[in-house]
Amino acid sequence: MARLRVYELAKQLDMDTKELLHELEELGIEVKSHMSYIDEETVNILLEIYKETLDEEEDVTLTKSKEPTKEKVEAKKPPVHITEEDLKLDKFAEKIKVPQNRIIQDFFMKGEVLRPGQQISVSLAKKIAKMYDVRLTFEEEEGKEEQVKLENPLDELKRQFEILYQDKEKLIPRPPVVTVMGHVDHGKTTLLDYIRKTRVAEKEEGGITQSIGAYQVVVNGKKITFIDTPGHEVFTEMRARGAQATDIVVLVVAADDGVMPQTIEAYNHAKSANVPIIVAINKIDKPNANVELTKQDLVTKLNLIPEEWGGDTIVVPISARNGTNVDTLLEMILLVAEMQDIRCIPEWPVRAVTIETRLDKGYGPVANAIVKDGVLKVGDYVVAGKVYGKVKALIDDKGKRINSAEPSTPVMIVGFEELPDPHSIIYVVESKEKAVETVEKVREIEARELRKKRQIKLEEILKKMQEGEKKELRLILKADTVGSLQALQNAISKLRTNEIDIDIVHAAVGAINTSDVMLASASEAIILGFRVKADSQASKLAESEGVQIKTYTIIYKLLEDLKAALEGMLEPEEVEEKTGTGEIKKVFKIHKYGNVAGVQVYDGYVEKSGFVRIYRNGALVFEGKIESLKHYQQDVSKVSAPQECGIKFQNFDDIKEGDELEFYIIKKVPRKLTALVEDSESSTQE
Ligand code: GDP
Repeated sequence: MARLRVYELAKQLDMDTKELLHELEELGIEVKSHMSYIDEETVNILLEIYKETLDEEEDVTLTKSKEPTKEKVEAKKPPVHITEEDLKLDKFAEKIKVPQNRIIQDFFMKGEVLRPGQQISVSLAKKIAKMYDVRLTFEEEEGKEEQVKLENPLDELKRQFEILYQDKEKLIPRPPVVTVMGHVDHGKTTLLDYIRKTRVAEKEEGGITQSIGAYQVVVNGKKITFIDTPGHEVFTEMRARGAQATDIVVLVVAADDGVMPQTIEAYNHAKSANVPIIVAINKIDKPNANVELTKQDLVTKLNLIPEEWGGDTIVVPISARNGTNVDTLLEMILLVAEMQDIRCIPEWPVRAVTIETRLDKGYGPVANAIVKDGVLKVGDYVVAGKVYGKVKALIDDKGKRINSAEPSTPVMIVGFEELPDPHSIIYVVESKEKAVETVEKVREIEARELRKKRQIKLEEILKKMQEGEKKELRLILKADTVGSLQALQNAISKLRTNEIDIDIVHAAVGAINTSDVMLASASEAIILGFRVKADSQASKLAESEGVQIKTYTIIYKLLEDLKAALEGMLEPEEVEEKTGTGEIKKVFKIHKYGNVAGVQVYDGYVEKSGFVRIYRNGALVFEGKIESLKHYQQDVSKVSAPQECGIKFQNFDDIKEGDELEFYIIKKVPRKLTALVEDSESSTQE
């Protein structure tokens, strides 16, 4: 067998290319992509391994056919207890004492591809166990099978980069990406503008004019990428989502102001991200600038000791306004970049860090991003969190259309199906199918997590309600105009009672959209729309999230419904209802039991489950429950006038002939809110 490309070998082995890539990785065989060649020797070894698999499979079948032996063995073996943590192929294999490779190979021969260490479902675990005659018991009951964690495909995508990063030699250097941070008014924007103005060539004819969130400059033949949005909020938000874009931070400190609160904040953010910091002491042109004092400030407040004072912090005094020393600053950036040895994966796989996303009038949903690994090309299928797309166009920082973007290149990506999350990582996948499948899985996982969260939330709410805390109706209001929104808010505020709070979580003008639904879902709110509709996506989402959306065109209808909802939440009132009267005609003393009253019911009826008041000469002597009610010898639940009956009162025996009885029951009546309709009517006239 001659040398083969990875995908050709995969074909020979009747294997998925990706699986094979993974296998090769596991075996420590270095390949870049599915197009890479595998040398003859390796090909032969691989073919041999898989031939062995075949032989082994035959062996397995042979032993399996020896039924009696198998049963003897099985009888001796206790069942293997499997916990959730064991539901990874490698762990599971260890637990059931069958080599992982053997399982993979055996399943492979059955046409099922398993990866080493992959997450396995309970049903798959059972299938594997059955194959090797292992009995299992599970930590969780059977019904939980569906709950087994789905592997997030984004984690899987991420992992392929982590694996490749382990092999430093295959990585290539890339330009540094720089974020400028510092206290407000210390000159961040001025510095970024100066560098852009002096270093970026004029924009190309016909290109777009707007910024794409970052730009790249060339200094001494080397590139540096600057992120356009200065400040640490964006930086930290990106980092929080695992989308670290920055390699170096330039901390701008004004020489006339020194280290200020936001300087410290910015420093802390950079430090916690473990990103090297270069300090630019700015505004040195100002008469009151004091570089030495500012350096002292750096030492005392940030513990950053300048190089010239024996520390390791590079400090460059500059004037962003005049451009003094800005070149030195740029050179220092290159120097630090070189020391950091910033590297990336050269061609494939490809990923980019999103800086911002927006809906462009002409292009539709676009993402401004910086390529981090590989080469992003027009025509690539991309996934960004829950959104996928096909790259229709790439536009660079000069507004020029380009066909491909190398690592550290800022680029506007056109072609997403929807607006991606502004802090997502964009991955290139090999096909549209893969893109769709990935996005669907991500959505499912998110929905699951949300459901779980909601479950917990609901439990909490119910518990709180049981603990007698105040009830709350949460609303999201959407209306057609500001005027009607205000009218609604006014009218609704009048519905508040002592028992139920109405919390307007969000109120805005416009159609009900998915973000309203997500907010409602997260805050357990009801969405009320006034003269606006829910868009189709929002309706769908509301259904899957179990969020209630109600839309109205007449304000008083809305208020009436709301009133009904509130009344439904009110504790019902307990109302006494008189059912009848009677008189004790005779007292029967029964040994060891007590006194039983022979009663004549005059009007209405007496219910055993009801209550009674006993009056003697007009004064109340007892109020309470009935222990037993008899009609002749029969236990009954109700006796009506003009019948007679025997009554034993609960914990009361001191009865006399001639006592008058009043029977009643307690009814729960739904409570009404009052003084609402007038309000709502007045608000209709807006
Ligand atoms: P940012 O809030 O950090 O982005 O600060 P800006 O870049 O907006 O600058 C704040 C103010 O300081 C502006 O009025 C700038 O013109 C001024 N400024 C920025 N850099 C310099 C400088 O090097 N020298 C002087 N004199 N003024 C500067």
